[in-house]
Amino acid sequence: MDQSDTLVLDTGAAMRAVRAGLAGTVGLVPTMGYLHQGHMALVRRSREENDHTIVSIFVNPTQFGPQEDFQRYPRDPERDLSLLKKEGVDFVFMPSVPEIYPAGFDTYVAPGSIAERLEGAARPGHFRGVATVVLKLFNIVQPTRAYFGQKDAQQVAVIKKMALDLALGLEITPVPTVREPDGLAMSSRNVYLNPSEHQAALCLWRSLRAARDLWAKGERRAETLRQSMRTILESEPLARIEYVSAAYGETLQELEEIQPAAQVSLAVWIGKTRLIDNIELRV
Ligand code: AMP
Repeated sequence: MDQSDTLVLDTGAAMRAVRAGLAGTVGLVPTMGYLHQGHMALVRRSREENDHTIVSIFVNPTQFGPQEDFQRYPRDPERDLSLLKKEGVDFVFMPSVPEIYPAGFDTYVAPGSIAERLEGAARPGHFRGVATVVLKLFNIVQPTRAYFGQKDAQQVAVIKKMALDLALGLEITPVPTVREPDGLAMSSRNVYLNPSEHQAALCLWRSLRAARDLWAKGERRAETLRQSMRTILESEPLARIEYVSAAYGETLQELEEIQPAAQVSLAVWIGKTRLIDNIELRV
């Protein structure tokens, strides 16, 4: 398909109608737009593995808390569309807020214990909003596979659990985190950082690497890993720790002793910007 063939759909009905005409496999990449190379890694993976790829762009109000950045979340649909065209994406689903949440909308997905820890504890209601919009997108698009970034590892775990528990019958494919050359995980929110905050934000990756290095040298006490991360983060004046975790990847329960498939993760404020990152400790 050449660049001019990307079709933009803005209603569920139009998206469904297009989907109904597609033969073969369909990959869905849900995003909130302001696309970067992290999103593009998901898109490329979907393009490799499916006959068609649909990217959704929707800044989902229900996953933002009342004090969070929904209003000022960065948006640039024109730039997003040109990136997706260049990438050869067939269809972009870009609904409005009332299209997804019409007046009277009143049904939500309630994820269980996996959504209570870490991001769920720090952002009450966040995963309820995520699970609800993702299920609605799945229902409209009916994908064969859906692609999510490991950058948001707990989101992957919540969606996988929802897909299993509710028998969604599709494949959830996690894609590794894409980083800037300096190690900062790519994020639409990085645009909030001024140059000195960007420098300060490198402490996230430094602390994850330090934990991984300790583990690689044989350290298995989870608290020692968490403490080494805190020490690094506390030495950065612009950083304020929200949480530091060394947990079992599937349940996100904090560990005493590091086991296979453990995950270290963190949420840190750099000035007014909240950043998250994580790394898996894989043998
Ligand atoms: P967002 O637009 O931030 O909601 O992200 C849309 C999807 O892209 C989610 O599945 C994210 O986990 C994924 N994503 C965001 N940043 C990255 C990154 N740096 N590397 C890989 N995937 C990412």
